[in-house]
Amino acid sequence: MSTTSRASPLDTLIGSLARLPGLGRRSAQRIALHLLSRREAVLEPLLEALAHAARAVKPCSVCGNLDGADPCGICTDAGRERGQICVVASPADLWAMEGAGAYRGLYHVTGGVLSALEGVGPEALNLDALAARAAGAQEVILALPATVDGMTTAHAIAATLAETGARVTRLGQGVPVGGELGRLDPGTIAAALRARGG
Ligand SMILES: [Zn+2]
Repeated sequence: MSTTSRASPLDTLIGSLARLPGLGRRSAQRIALHLLSRREAVLEPLLEALAHAARAVKPCSVCGNLDGADPCGICTDAGRERGQICVVASPADLWAMEGAGAYRGLYHVTGGVLSALEGVGPEALNLDALAARAAGAQEVILALPATVDGMTTAHAIAATLAETGARVTRLGQGVPVGGELGRLDPGTIAAALRARGG
């Protein structure tokens, strides 16, 4: 599949869709047909939503969450517990925590985990900003993926935060090894939050 000038607009569309996570070429063809056969109901609202999101949605300069406002709605929510910061790898994990409905503190979204293989170092995870925020917090809850890289990252963060005075805890049992929060049911996340330990 190519995006050269010889590719038809339909092929270009299918090729772009096929690059989205979880979609192969067959799904991309199905979606392209669906969009083009329902222009008013589906294609045009989607175009508008994409253009609007591309313009308006940005990472929060405080916590890294994606939102239409900066600072984001969670950072500016006066009802949130400001002494707790939950560290997650991605906005999807933040949404999973929010979906569990058991956490009312703030977040820090790292945007990934340390990876020697992929060349991701501490500076990429905005850990200096986390340390500065943690200095004014009571507890930092690490809710990073239960993978080798996730655990390496948790150790590195715990070491970085050692001098801030904040208590560093981790989500407790119930989070399977290799699991991403987004794949867990809300009850499991809530139980893991209750079972957290240092
Ligand atoms: Zn924020």
